[in-house]
Amino acid sequence: MIVNSVSSGLSAKKMSFKGTESIWTTAKTNIENAANELGYGKSLINQLVYPERELSGFVHVGGIDEPIQVFRTQHNTALGPAKGGIRMMPAVDGETVRGLATDMSVKNSLAGLPLGGGKGGIRFDSAKLSPAQRVDLFRAYTRFMAPIIGPNMDIPAPDMFTNAGDMDIIMDEYSKVVGHNDPGVVTGKSLMNGGSLGRQEATGLGVVHTVEEALLKEGILPNRATAAVQGSGNVGGVAAKYLHEKGVKVLGMSDMYGAIYNKKGLDVPEVLSEIKQKGTLTKYAKAAKISNEDLLKLNVDVLVPAATQGQITEKNAGSILAKIIAEGANGPTTPGADKILQRRGIHVVPDVLANQGGVYVSHLEHIQNRTRDIWPLKTVLDKLAVQMKSRYNEVFTYSIRNKVSMRKAATMLALERIANALKARGRIV
Ligand code: NAD
Repeated sequence: MIVNSVSSGLSAKKMSFKGTESIWTTAKTNIENAANELGYGKSLINQLVYPERELSGFVHVGGIDEPIQVFRTQHNTALGPAKGGIRMMPAVDGETVRGLATDMSVKNSLAGLPLGGGKGGIRFDSAKLSPAQRVDLFRAYTRFMAPIIGPNMDIPAPDMFTNAGDMDIIMDEYSKVVGHNDPGVVTGKSLMNGGSLGRQEATGLGVVHTVEEALLKEGILPNRATAAVQGSGNVGGVAAKYLHEKGVKVLGMSDMYGAIYNKKGLDVPEVLSEIKQKGTLTKYAKAAKISNEDLLKLNVDVLVPAATQGQITEKNAGSILAKIIAEGANGPTTPGADKILQRRGIHVVPDVLANQGGVYVSHLEHIQNRTRDIWPLKTVLDKLAVQMKSRYNEVFTYSIRNKVSMRKAATMLALERIANALKARGRIV
């Protein structure tokens, strides 16, 4: 199992956000660009851009002197209950949560799921919490959000600095509130509490399935390909592991403390075990140390930004040498940088496509919870492979047919589904 920054005790406070644009600005711009291409009018665009409901307030945890601000945004529920993770970081604010929720509406629609978009936030540094305070915090978050979450309303999941144990607490507290056991209120739970086999590796492995398809389109054999992966957590670490397994040479990897490079290829399992033991890869001996900025500019076939938002900007987009960028993180590319990448003919697999494996397997977890069934790992991973490859090809074909970028194609396909649902419900004003 990959060690992420939560389990290795690293502080969210140390995470830097170099991007100049908020994730809400990026998400809004992507929707507006795609909706304009579809010829939608202002009123429909506003319905597609602005969230339906937002709830924010403060909760209090014993032993912590400051009030803790919590957020939840339900962006669009035309296709089904809202769904999206909870992020816990000192930098989280209402605008970040809104932007992430907006992306979830697009992602869930593109994935063909009967789900809308939602996201939650806790503005706090998880490293400051004792285990008991962490439990108290998630119980308080659940009681605060109980009126608006639920298996038919809004289904949270983990995001950065939250984990399966936190989801177990939400499930337990929500079950107490409603008076019966209700595992369907959250996904990403631990296996013993109704989690699904395959959820832990779903996002990173899903990214790799889209990379395989993109390599095929570019005429590059996986065992001749090279890659660099930014971020070595649940998404980046797993993606690096599967790229390596499929024969792709991973030349560079990074975490929030720095990056490493070996021109002959890294021994990814060894690097991952180093992270597990030391909490960082920067002390790995069999590689040269480089900066995170230089990792993005490595001469590789595939770049997987899988750390955080706003990493590929107008400043560095012109220096990226990769032929394919598969966005493991949410919003790693700013709209200005996206234009540069497109002009330079770089094959970008956008976040809403590349990293949808996580929410897809969350959906499979929800089905198992509601039917009280348990599926074998192979069933889940086979379904994931079919989902990722077919959605990739749907977007690729649409992008060729309509002469638009993969990002615009993905967003247009997603918006068409939401707009059709709104129309069928008589909600287009
Ligand atoms: P994580 O906390 O497990 O890992 C984050 C990794 O990125 C860590 O290795 C951290 O050290 C590194 N990092 C952070 N800031 C960095 C920086 N500025 N430069 C280089 N490395 C940096 O988080 P995760 O679950 O892997 O999520 C990563 C991204 O993927 C986030 O944008 C998240 O929203 C997105 N995402 C995650 C999932 C999921 O299922 N976990 C699903 C979809 C999207």
